Amino acid sequence: MNTELISIMDLSTESMKDLCRAAEIIRRGGLVVFPTETVYGLGADATNAEAAAKIFEAKGRPSDNPLIIHIAEPENAERYTYTNDTYFRLARAFMPGPLTVILPARECIPPETRASLPTVAVRCPEHPVARKLIELSGVPIAAPSANISGSPSPTKAKHVIDDMTGRVDMIIDGGDSEFGLESTIVKIDGDGSLTLLRPGKITVDDLRSVCPSVKIADAVKDKLKEGETVLSPGMKYRHYAPRAEVFLLDMDINSAAEYIRKRSKKCRVAAICYEEDLETVRDKAPGVTIYEFGKRGDELTQAHMLFDILRDADKKELDELYAPLPRAEGLGLALYNRMIRAAAYHIIRM
Ligand code: AMP
Ligand code: MG
Repeated sequence: MNTELISIMDLSTESMKDLCRAAEIIRRGGLVVFPTETVYGLGADATNAEAAAKIFEAKGRPSDNPLIIHIAEPENAERYTYTNDTYFRLARAFMPGPLTVILPARECIPPETRASLPTVAVRCPEHPVARKLIELSGVPIAAPSANISGSPSPTKAKHVIDDMTGRVDMIIDGGDSEFGLESTIVKIDGDGSLTLLRPGKITVDDLRSVCPSVKIADAVKDKLKEGETVLSPGMKYRHYAPRAEVFLLDMDINSAAEYIRKRSKKCRVAAICYEEDLETVRDKAPGVTIYEFGKRGDELTQAHMLFDILRDADKKELDELYAPLPRAEGLGLALYNRMIRAAAYHIIRM
């Protein structure tokens, strides 16, 4: 397949012409990669079963892992799902933005889009190019992250070009994703309480400011037990796994640097380091490849950088990659959730 690459950084008259062509591709059942504030999305008409099926093929995504449908206005959710009060309270507080809500699906969303579940995931993105594309298409856009299944979600145009060239009709380069981790996903339970299925930029505290009862699904922090069912099918897959083995270090920086030094004598090693720790690691483990990871408490910067680092680590053909264990609270919970999966739950404590 011939993939057209275009760059859209604003909504100027020139860009709008390109966006109209992108919307036309969506309307006739094609695939368009587009930027959002979380990660790049691989979009198709969510109401078109054949178009949705193409997404699974392009990504190599297991067919039991449902797609998120993207809408231009929060109230449009009513056309495709059965909404409720809690949805509108969440929408007023966080939409457009990086929040996805699971709701009962209407018939117009085919089983291919929702992996035959009775529910569908809805999100109204904030990114102006994404919103305009949905609006011009006139249909909800089903879009998972625009990576080959199993590799880190793309946060830069070069990531999608690497993964999706030849697999989609068009790639829209909209610059780097602002946040860099996928949306927060919540399910609204029968009593109006929420269950967090995937942590993201909208934190548990943010959700509690709108809806006092928020449970965190077990799979957010812990490995699934044998035979356990999962509320969000995506959580059972080994995600974000670089070729190198990843280990999260839960120890003081001197011990961590010493551990990394010892391993570097045995195999090809890199370390993800907070700014404050760079000198210690450089001193104690000379020659080890270092990825700077922003300041210790600067989780926004870390979220922005993580997937690019994991992709780069892949290219370097490392054997082992060491990273600090993030806190499992606030914005840190989103980092923890992604990093613990990249590390296949390997935490080294001292
Ligand atoms: P991605 O678009 O690649 O970020 O993945 C979408 C995530 O949303 C996956 O983890 C899916 O399992 C989850 N998801 C989509 N639809 C539903 C649904 N109806 N119920 C629960 N989880 C869903
Ligand atoms: Mg994904």
